[in-house]
Amino acid sequence: MNKDYVPNLFGSMVFNEKIMKERLPKQTYKELKSCIDKGKALNINVANIVACAMKDWALEKGATHFTHWFQPMTGITAEKHDSFISPTEDGQIIMEFSGKELIKGEPDASSFPNGGLRVTFEARGYTAWDPTSYAFIKDNTLCIPTVFYSYSGEALDKKTPLLRSMEAINKQALRVLNLFGNEDVKSVITTVGPEQEYFIIDKDLYLKRLDLILTGRTLLGAKAPKGQELEDHYFGIIKPRIAAFMEELDKELWKLGVLVKTKHNEVAPAQHELAPIFTTTNLATDHNQLTMETMKKVADKHGLVCLLHEKPFEGINGSGKHNNWSLSTDNGQNLLEPGKTPAKNAQFLTFLCAVIKAVDEYQDLLRISVANAGNDHRLGANEAPPAIVSMFLGDELSGILDAIENNEKYSAKDKVEMELGVDVLPRFPKDTTDRNRTSPFAFTGNKFEFRMLGSTFSVSGPNVILNTIVAEALSSFADELEGATDFKKALNSLIKKTLKDHKRIIFNGNNYSDEWIQEAEKRGLLNLRTTVDALPYFIKDKNIALFEKHNIFTETEIRSRYEILLENYSKIINIEALTMVDMIRKEILPAVTNYMKNLSDTIIAKKSIGLSNCCDMERGTLTNISNLANNLYTEIEKLDSLLRRVDDYSDPLSVADFYKSLIIPAMEKARSYADSLELLVGKEYWPIPTYADLLYKI
Ligand code: ADP
Ligand code: MG
Repeated sequence: MNKDYVPNLFGSMVFNEKIMKERLPKQTYKELKSCIDKGKALNINVANIVACAMKDWALEKGATHFTHWFQPMTGITAEKHDSFISPTEDGQIIMEFSGKELIKGEPDASSFPNGGLRVTFEARGYTAWDPTSYAFIKDNTLCIPTVFYSYSGEALDKKTPLLRSMEAINKQALRVLNLFGNEDVKSVITTVGPEQEYFIIDKDLYLKRLDLILTGRTLLGAKAPKGQELEDHYFGIIKPRIAAFMEELDKELWKLGVLVKTKHNEVAPAQHELAPIFTTTNLATDHNQLTMETMKKVADKHGLVCLLHEKPFEGINGSGKHNNWSLSTDNGQNLLEPGKTPAKNAQFLTFLCAVIKAVDEYQDLLRISVANAGNDHRLGANEAPPAIVSMFLGDELSGILDAIENNEKYSAKDKVEMELGVDVLPRFPKDTTDRNRTSPFAFTGNKFEFRMLGSTFSVSGPNVILNTIVAEALSSFADELEGATDFKKALNSLIKKTLKDHKRIIFNGNNYSDEWIQEAEKRGLLNLRTTVDALPYFIKDKNIALFEKHNIFTETEIRSRYEILLENYSKIINIEALTMVDMIRKEILPAVTNYMKNLSDTIIAKKSIGLSNCCDMERGTLTNISNLANNLYTEIEKLDSLLRRVDDYSDPLSVADFYKSLIIPAMEKARSYADSLELLVGKEYWPIPTYADLLYKI
């Protein structure tokens, strides 16, 4: 059998249902499955049997170690590997793995971000297996997906709140579904399909740029003569070197059970996209983390580097991640799919209205869920959605909602009358709902596409928010409808009221236009342009109340996360600024000096042979360069001394604001001089690869 036969490859490194069924005693499998389905804790006897079977399977696949694989607040995954070896009395070893080791770990966690949650004398963190995500083998290590929490039980990671939010939306969606007579539905899950953008560049060139190495983006660099204006890269033919990388990436991800489906070139030169088929949010999150990690690893094997930063290059598109999101029941209904019967339509409109209400009431939280230093370069620029959260429903669906709100006939081409729970919605083909690519939050036929995520983001954060705010809207709907004597009447007025109160969030026009910014302001929508503008909303009373009500975060956890996010922002800008100072002092200015010396030596040499009137080029260039170099020197000295002033600020918000308001503008100024110099200094003298090198030489 061909070893690359995809059905054999797929999931071959995953301890999934099929393997569990094959390898576990029937009773153990049943108990494990029931724990997974009901989210119950595993008892130690079952855990011992599962651990032993897992170990045997892993050893056969060549594994030597195991690790609890968790997702701390760094946004990447963490692992500490232990080998399976255990000494025997006769000086040999046996390979062991116990149920206790499977279900709980105690990594020393003092160096993970915790926002003041763990004092150093209680630096222990605990990890616990999340059996809803399968164990898998990566680099000869058996990885157990786990949650990560502190001694006193606070979440220190991105998985715990996600699981809590999935539970919250499950609970509230079931309440609403019951009202529509879905007694057979036992659970509701959220589904996510994240489309991932990334850049691929040559590794040798990458290694010549300290900014890429330390910050993941170029801090300097004049635009290449060619950018993305010809739009010839989008869906273009994939270069052989990239194709080879993509082929191996697909295979590695398939082995890990990731449902990788689509790959193509993106708009910017050297930019690409990968999209999997959607799955349960929890798994989609784990898989997206694995995808990002595997992209980097496989690229390296091909002498390439994968840049996941939101804005690696100025002047061309940055990279984002589209979070396709929906709700689905255990009996296979997609709750955001317009139904075929009047009853199903009323149900669809109820869920749709819950999302509308949620997005409007918690615009701030959605904005925060996509806020970081890198994404500030995109949101609001002419490529990504703006920083204003709004929803696209398409003209047809919006028309129907208007008609419902105003008790009017819906008079599109089909001339259908719409009475909730009586009439059938007209079918809207997917393409009429998916035309607007500028919307941050678009209804695309049977799901919503949240398009504001940055490419480095764990999809956990945005989905925690989405799940929680929709759970809240559903909960308020259920509260109102559960007591109603006339359900149909109550539903009708609830839907109308919701549309009236929240229709301001719906915008089907061009989100990149200036008119929209003004219009949004008139509508009272938030325009939180930067991370520093957005984050303070996290700790508003209404948001703390929301998270506490649905058991997502305690107030302590929220405040700790707020601090972590602010500190992360400040640290990133600080590293970027220091890197810039370093590169300009040690690489750019010395190179410029060399070139100036060459020019002035030439002038002197020409003079010595009587050609002093023929030095226009040298003089002109030298004068320009010399002026720019002086300006660059001045700006970099200013930036350097400005950086020291951070000590004047103490609380995390004012520190972050200092970086936003003072450091970023200073960096931009210095960069403009450096980029102008790049256009004048001889190629051989310029010490770092240019944009043309990085984007086209592959
Ligand atoms: P594009 O946005 O480029 O048009 P597609 O429409 O093909 O792409 O879908 C994008 C993503 O949406 C894919 O990952 C797909 O699996 C996912 N998707 C489709 N249906 C759902 C759903 N019900 N829930 C979540 N994601 C979904
Ligand atoms: Mg998309």
